[in-house]
Amino acid sequence: MHALTRDQDPAQQPDFLIVGGGTAGAVLAARLSESGRHSVMLVEAGVDTLPESTPADIRDTFPSSTLNPAYFWPGLEATIVAGERPRPFPQARIMGGGSSIMGMFALRGLPSDFSRWAESGASGWSWDEAVRFYRKIENDPSRADNHEGTSPIRRMPAQEWPPFVSAMRDAARAQGFAYVPDINEMPGDGFFAMPSSRDADTRSTSAGCYLTSEARRRKNLTIVANTHVTRLIFDGRKVVGVESRHDGSVCTIFARRVIVSAGAIHSPALLLRSGVGPAQELREAGIEPVIDRSGVGRNLQNHSYLFFALTLPRGKRLASHLRRFVVAGLRASSKLPDCPDGDLLLFTLGRVSPRGFGTDVAMVGSALYSPFSKGFVKLASNDPLANPRVDFRMLDDPRDAPRVVQGARLAEQLLRQSGVAACYSEAFLLPAGMAVNQFNRPGLAGTALAAGARVALNAPGPMRRFAVRRAFGTGRPLSERHGSAGITDDEILSALAPMGHPVGTCAMGDLGDAKAVVDTRYRVIGLENLYVVDASVMPVIPSANTNLPTLMVAEHAAEKVLESVR
Ligand SMILES: Cc1cc2nc3c(=O)[nH]c(=O)nc-3n(C[C@H](O)[C@H](O)[C@H](O)COP(=O)(O)OP(=O)(O)OC[C@H]3O[C@@H](n4cnc5c(N)ncnc54)[C@H](O)[C@@H]3O)c2cc1C
Repeated sequence: MHALTRDQDPAQQPDFLIVGGGTAGAVLAARLSESGRHSVMLVEAGVDTLPESTPADIRDTFPSSTLNPAYFWPGLEATIVAGERPRPFPQARIMGGGSSIMGMFALRGLPSDFSRWAESGASGWSWDEAVRFYRKIENDPSRADNHEGTSPIRRMPAQEWPPFVSAMRDAARAQGFAYVPDINEMPGDGFFAMPSSRDADTRSTSAGCYLTSEARRRKNLTIVANTHVTRLIFDGRKVVGVESRHDGSVCTIFARRVIVSAGAIHSPALLLRSGVGPAQELREAGIEPVIDRSGVGRNLQNHSYLFFALTLPRGKRLASHLRRFVVAGLRASSKLPDCPDGDLLLFTLGRVSPRGFGTDVAMVGSALYSPFSKGFVKLASNDPLANPRVDFRMLDDPRDAPRVVQGARLAEQLLRQSGVAACYSEAFLLPAGMAVNQFNRPGLAGTALAAGARVALNAPGPMRRFAVRRAFGTGRPLSERHGSAGITDDEILSALAPMGHPVGTCAMGDLGDAKAVVDTRYRVIGLENLYVVDASVMPVIPSANTNLPTLMVAEHAAEKVLESVR
């Protein structure tokens, strides 16, 4: 690994400079340097994680790294619903990006997702095309024809599930949802063990799976960490390098081509700051436009979710030695007019904390997986180090709120079923923001809170219910909420939170579409030698958590980029 403290010699410029060593950036760095024909420099704002010394919280198969503030962009916030105040919105700043801190759900999405990409102008995309690249990535030994790709994927065997999950599977079956052994190979509605990006004892990160010791030994690959790229440098409409900051010093790095892989929030922010975006908006921010591209920062999409928390009695919990998080999922279709099938996803978490009380509570999440609402990323100021303004507008499209309510009602219905209710003590609708994270604070305060939580969660009924309501700010448990005292639609909608799945802000599309930012070869339309490759290029959000789809896009992009420089 290198540190940059002075301007780089232009004669040493790499063929490819990749901005951001996240989920996509790590794949590109590995694939573009593989043949030895191209020199590649990868520049990441966060710290590096070397294969031999990756921190234990990143390796953990329970997502402990999600709780480590050192791995996130400080101060980043987002507005969830129009008119609300912004709330913290965590995005990774660490080698491996989101793959190093995520919840490890590993879903491919649905065939209709990729048809919609093609329909929106990203021609060439189809389910078959996506599967070609998914097979390169997935190492899923539960399959007879496992292709032994780069990234291990595992599921929890049903014998290890906490009893409420098995009871939910049975309750779902009674409602017509079949059990699907491999939801990625057989996408559709049904109950399934959640594929997870890990092997038995280690999380699969893009850094670990692609920036291997072997890749790092390549003479043509340079990895630079702790270095924030603040601006792209242009000569006319040709990008010639970037300006970066490391430990307070400002350096210029020249490159033949620049690939922006800074994620769906920071990629558009970097383009905007460099004069690539809606010209009028840029001028208002005091930035001289290099090109007028109205789509930069627009088309922001994300999944929304809410949680029911379950207190579990002894004997009904996940075995405490299992470092696991997500257990199983249920995909369902709202069947509301104009809405695609498979638009709702329920998921079950068996452990909510790495600490002792972590298996005393479980969660059932309900998420909208094909939202129509769109928001935006804009510059909040032209200070190169300032976070951008993120506004999701999650309920702007009238088709979204009814489906959020429908998903939550499906979860509530399953939780009220007698076989499921026999497996927990109480179930509560959690207010937005997963208050359980308060008990996951680092340091002594967190340890003390967690110890208190353990005592409260194992106390007799009335004390436990009181403690849970005080600690999580929940309303009364489901068992006490019937008829006019039941959960209201307003309560459901105000429990809504954004997942960490922003996409769409540098959308791929047709050359003639003013809203498109990159063409089908990931080149920024109207500029030379500049590419964007990450979750921001997805024109429509897939019906899946976005890490596996981003890996897939990056593998696809590596092939396209190499074709274009042959
Ligand atoms: C809390 C959380 C939980 C998640 N859980 C799941 C899950 O369970 N399953 C799933 O499939 N997906 C999950 N995701 C989503 C998934 O992680 C992302 O979709 C994926 O990582 C996106 O990849 P990316 O390459 O677009 O961006 P990122 O992985 O975010 O990578 C961008 C990288 O660029 C770097 N960077 C940004 N700006 C600059 C700059 N100016 N200079 C230098 N470097 C820069 C960042 O530090 C970062 O490392 C989760 C995300 C979050 C935040």
